[in-house]
Amino acid sequence: MSKRFAMKLSTPEHAAPADAIARKSVPPVICYPVTTLPRPDLAAYRASRAGAEKIGEVIVPPRDGACFHVKAGQFFRISSIEGAQVGDLNLWSADLSERFYSGKTRALHGTHLSSGDRFWSSFPSLRPMATIIDDSLDWYGVDPDGGSVHDVIGTRCDPYTHALLSDGGQYHHCCHSNLTRALAAETGMSLAEAETQVHDVFNIFMCTGFTRDTGQYFMKASPVRPGDYMDIFAEIDLLGALSACPGGDCSSEHSSDSAACYPLKVEIFAASEPPRGWEPPARSSYDRSHGL
Ligand SMILES: [Zn+2]
Repeated sequence: MSKRFAMKLSTPEHAAPADAIARKSVPPVICYPVTTLPRPDLAAYRASRAGAEKIGEVIVPPRDGACFHVKAGQFFRISSIEGAQVGDLNLWSADLSERFYSGKTRALHGTHLSSGDRFWSSFPSLRPMATIIDDSLDWYGVDPDGGSVHDVIGTRCDPYTHALLSDGGQYHHCCHSNLTRALAAETGMSLAEAETQVHDVFNIFMCTGFTRDTGQYFMKASPVRPGDYMDIFAEIDLLGALSACPGGDCSSEHSSDSAACYPLKVEIFAASEPPRGWEPPARSSYDRSHGL
C-alpha cells in the first residue's frame, strides 16, 4: 500500500459537512440496469454444445501466447492443465474490425464473469462477440476478502508498467508482449502493428478484487486446478489470443520468471445444430449522427 494513498484516505484535508452521514447513506443505483438486456438461452446453447465435435486444439505454452480461430456458431473451451495457471484473453472479430471491450463488459455484467455473461465488442458495434455457457469455477462466488474469479478489472501485465515501477526493469514475457508476439506471428503484422491491436483482457481463472480500506486492486492464488474449464460460444467469427501469464496462479508476483507457470489448453468444437433460435447478433442500432 502506498503511503500517499493511505494518507489520502485516513487524513482528509477537508472537514466533513454536518450532513455527511445523510449524504453517504443514499442507496446505490445500478449504473446499467440489465432488465432490457436479453438474457442468453443457456439451455439452448448447452444443448447445441452437447452434440458438438472437437475440431481443433491449441496449447498455450507457459509465459507465452498463442492465437486460435473460432467461427460464429462454434464453441471453445479454455482449460487448466498440469497446474494452476491464469490466462489473459483477447478477442477480435476475424477481420480485426471489432475488439473485446473489457470496460463496457464490466459495466454491464460486473467485475467478474461467469455463465450467461457475454464479451461485448468495441464501438460502434457494441454487440456480443461471445457468450459464456459453462464455468467449472462458478462455485467460488465471492470470498471473504471480496475476491472472485475471472475478472474484467485488470488490464494485463505489461512491460511498460513494469519499467515504471521497477526503475526501468526490462521483462519480455508479460501478457501484453505474449499477446503481441502471438498476434504478429498469426497475422504477419509487425510487432509494432500487432501491439496496437492488443487490448484490455479477460483474466480467465484469475482471483482478484479491491481492498476495502484502500480500494487497491489485489490478486490472490487462483483456485483453479487442472481440469477446470470455461466453455464459450462464438457469436461472431473470432480471432482469439491467449497468454499464459508469467504470474502462474498469481499468488505472488508477475512480470518475472519467479512463479511456477503451466500451459493452458484451448479446444474448438463445431456443433451439428446451432443453438435453438440463435441468430448472429446485429451491430448497435445507434445511427452515429452524434447530434449533428
Ligand atoms: Zn499476465
